Amino acid sequence: MAVATLYDSSLSVIASRGDSTAPPAVRSIVIVGGGTAGWMSALILARALIPRGVEITLLESPTVPTIGVGEGSTPWLRGFFDALGIEEAEWMPACQATYKCGISFEGWSTKPGFERYFHPFACMLDNMTMTPFVHNVEARVRGANVYAHPDRFFISARLVAERRSPKAREHFPFDVWHGYHFDATLLGRFLLQKALERGVRHKSCHVTNATVGADGAIVSVSTKEGETIRADLFVDCTGFAGLLIEKTLKVPFLSFADNLFNDAAVAIPSPMEQSVPSETVSTALKYGWVWKIPLTNRYGNGYVYSSGFCTPDAAETELRRHLGLLDSDVEARHLKMRVGRVASLWYRNCLAIGLSQGFVEPLEATSLMFIQHSAMAFAQLLDQGDLSEDVRARFNARFNRQFDGIRDYIVTHYKTNSRTDTDYWRANAANMKLSENLQKLHSAWMAGKSIVPGVRAQELGLGYPVASWFALMAGMGVFPDPQDLRAPTEREAQFNLAEVDDLLDRCSGNYLDHREALERIPPRRPTQGLRVYFW
Ligand SMILES: Cc1cc2nc3c(=O)[nH]c(=O)nc-3n(C[C@H](O)[C@H](O)[C@H](O)COP(=O)(O)OP(=O)(O)OC[C@H]3O[C@@H](n4cnc5c(N)ncnc54)[C@H](O)[C@@H]3O)c2cc1C
Repeated sequence: MAVATLYDSSLSVIASRGDSTAPPAVRSIVIVGGGTAGWMSALILARALIPRGVEITLLESPTVPTIGVGEGSTPWLRGFFDALGIEEAEWMPACQATYKCGISFEGWSTKPGFERYFHPFACMLDNMTMTPFVHNVEARVRGANVYAHPDRFFISARLVAERRSPKAREHFPFDVWHGYHFDATLLGRFLLQKALERGVRHKSCHVTNATVGADGAIVSVSTKEGETIRADLFVDCTGFAGLLIEKTLKVPFLSFADNLFNDAAVAIPSPMEQSVPSETVSTALKYGWVWKIPLTNRYGNGYVYSSGFCTPDAAETELRRHLGLLDSDVEARHLKMRVGRVASLWYRNCLAIGLSQGFVEPLEATSLMFIQHSAMAFAQLLDQGDLSEDVRARFNARFNRQFDGIRDYIVTHYKTNSRTDTDYWRANAANMKLSENLQKLHSAWMAGKSIVPGVRAQELGLGYPVASWFALMAGMGVFPDPQDLRAPTEREAQFNLAEVDDLLDRCSGNYLDHREALERIPPRRPTQGLRVYFW
């Protein structure tokens, strides 16, 4: 068993050889795109570089709207705001934000007892329940009839069931390493304002083309408004357009369409209730799944589906029926998605961040995490002046591996589904176009062998920790059929689950009701160094 520090905003992914007291090699940076990726990158780069005299300008098209979705996060987003010194009490009310303890998956599996499960965000209390959870799961994979559904083992699942927040009362030291839900448009405005306050320049202009020098690097961008803007470094945050990284520099795009079939979404808001859930709910429908994200003033809902199996009209009707909004005149927004990634997110003097870098569909809400991680790691390299070919190659390899690890985690939700109601779900279950790592993981699991070494050694572990893989496989009920289970040995049945129930019963009352926590956002407690056992 290993212990890992889960929360660490420093993210020193690449060892420095540089000297941060020397003047930065890059004196001017132009970010093209003013979506969440553009403003998050601007703030991260500004923090490291504006005090050292670097000029940062963000160009945003007055005619191309932002994607306007992306309202759930992983727990990493806490590190973003903490690193910038922005308190929850300031940004959360401004963005109608709520706390998130994890994601419920409903209707992905048809196996009795496993029709729904919760993917929990971690808490130090898990150190006390993880051992029985992993032990029971491994015993059940080997055919022992022991209890192995994840929801019973994690405090986050309990908090969600009781509509509590991840914030513990003052005397109780075990906060959950939580994420957030927020209004994407309001978050964009909030970040813009902060970036301007911190010295980022903003120009409303539409970039038409870029000029590339003899060395293959971008020299300048030209705008429809008639300006030519030069910089040492360009950050492509133009969303799915990929204006600089793909259209200008011709970095190839590697599609994940063989692994992940969804390529479209339709979104509709719905009214919020008095008590606010602290989870995202992901419900499988006929040709994909629906997110339900609680904000303080509304739910955001969206059906992510495959246009190869379902038309936009049929998707909208199915979503409206699911939400009870068939007769409502609330407008639906239809979106196209491109799933995959560029071969290199950093090429010459251009870094692609956000949707221009790639997208793994929103099932686990990982995009903002990627924006944050890549921008922070890059800012660190710029700060250290460490921009050699070798560092660039390692940077690209590291983020590509993480991207692919996340893809494989998401693919597993589809691969392990047991629905048979549509061609869509049957095709997902039958899909054999899996990465080699994923094939090995599935084979090990089905053979009753430990998946721990495989996850740790490969991209799979960079995407998600072992505990998440266990929650997913066990939550989907990927176990021998009930009639094939045997009585457990004494060792296999060694854990008394009444003790786990009792522990969680005694702890859950120490967490604030979610609505109460949102009305009086508690002061931040230091979370650096939250240590959780990673199996
Ligand atoms: C259906 C769906 C659901 C999602 N859900 C989640 C989620 O729950 N959690 C999560 O983390 N992520 C989610 N995402 C991803 C998330 O929305 C994005 O990662 C995030 O919003 C960042 O987008 P972006 O800034 O890269 O692109 P965009 O928001 O598309 O912004 C692009 C910017 O580039 C500008 N631009 C474009 N062309 C030009 C030009 N020629 N000149 C100047 N400016 C230009 C535009 O004006 C705009 O400002 C979801 C995505 C989709 C499609």
